Amino acid sequence: MIDKTKKYLVWQYTCIIFAISALLFVGCDSIYHYVITHNLEENLADYLNEEYREALDYNLNFHEEIHSSAADATMIQTFSYWILDSKIIHADQPEGTIGKELLDKVLRLDIADRELTRFKLKNQKEIWKFAALATSFTLKGQQGKIVVLMNMTPIEKFTHTYKKIGFIVLFVICLLSYFIALSLANRAIAPIVKMYHRQKDFVSNASHELKTPLGVLMAYSELIETKYGSNAEIDVIKDEVKNMSGLIDDLLYLSKLDSLKTNVKRPPLDILSCLKETIKKFNALANDRKFPITLKTDKQNLTVSLSLGDLERILNVLIENALKYTPKDKHISLEADTDDKKVYIRVIDEGIGIEQKDIAHIFEKFYRADESHNRNISGYGLGLSIAKEIIEQNRGSISVISHPGKGSVFTVEFPAAK
Ligand code: ADP
Repeated sequence: MIDKTKKYLVWQYTCIIFAISALLFVGCDSIYHYVITHNLEENLADYLNEEYREALDYNLNFHEEIHSSAADATMIQTFSYWILDSKIIHADQPEGTIGKELLDKVLRLDIADRELTRFKLKNQKEIWKFAALATSFTLKGQQGKIVVLMNMTPIEKFTHTYKKIGFIVLFVICLLSYFIALSLANRAIAPIVKMYHRQKDFVSNASHELKTPLGVLMAYSELIETKYGSNAEIDVIKDEVKNMSGLIDDLLYLSKLDSLKTNVKRPPLDILSCLKETIKKFNALANDRKFPITLKTDKQNLTVSLSLGDLERILNVLIENALKYTPKDKHISLEADTDDKKVYIRVIDEGIGIEQKDIAHIFEKFYRADESHNRNISGYGLGLSIAKEIIEQNRGSISVISHPGKGSVFTVEFPAAK
């Protein structure tokens, strides 16, 4: 129970830590993009407005003017081109091959007024990235276009590096989040673990203390029986003592189950011989039944990684229940089968069955379905919870299909041992 809660907490905390980190990353990335892009776009728009105003002035005093300056991929530079009749009449452009390529690109650029456009240019292994804005203008009655460009290469490079670092940080956080979650889960669960151990110690001590008086009661009942002969009252005392002893054994076993837990892989166990032996034992004990318990299987050999003691305990619980809840003139049978991946053991009875509303609870500790049915049948509702815990510790599972008044089928599955 503690282990499951801890695993659940670790999983939850890991997801929360990771989700918060991822959200922060995405948030920072969006803010960065908004701030940078928005800023640069505004600058570019201002630059375009300046060029447009200049172009209006040129209407009075026009002369061609083309400036070239050194291009540097590592700097945010701006360039401008005035195009009239597919010819550049005014420009502030980069030098060298990138200048020629850019000019060529600008002349071919199909760009709507004031609509931001981005494009790349490959030049001597370097990829240049530009943002462009354009507007129409008229010069001496002729319609032309002004295009302004901004070299975005350094920004894109920085963004790329920053994203790479971000992903690495996210990956590290992802790894660390498991350990952080583990430590948080350990802290959160510590008081529960303490209480759980106290409770287990109490159950174990109380059970041990109760064993002695029950032993004395049984011994004295038997002594009275041998001295004065058997009678109904002594039988009632002996039955109750037996029931109490059974309950104490179950409680002790439950309190030890967690500490018995081990990851040691068990050697393969041939379950068929164990099934046959157990059935033989129960048939000898329940010799007042009309039909003996039978085993149906067409397999010669079925192996699972399980200890003989665990298998016996599981079978005892299921067969004892079948005997308790099945009238003496009805059938009880066992089936064993495999589909190569799993081994199935079924305990089938034609007994009183279990109501649908109870099925979800019968594996809980101390749950007994419909007390009115069970009033005369001894038990404390611990058998199935013990069986389930043993089965799950051995990587198996248990399920039940039941129809009230018709009977029940308990199916236990284990991974088949290779
Ligand atoms: P107990 O039998 O001691 O009450 P269990 O944990 O073994 O405790 O079973 C829990 C409950 O499940 C029982 O009280 C009973 O109501 C129901 N149950 C278990 N096995 C059967 C069965 N074969 N047929 C009908 N009811 C069953």
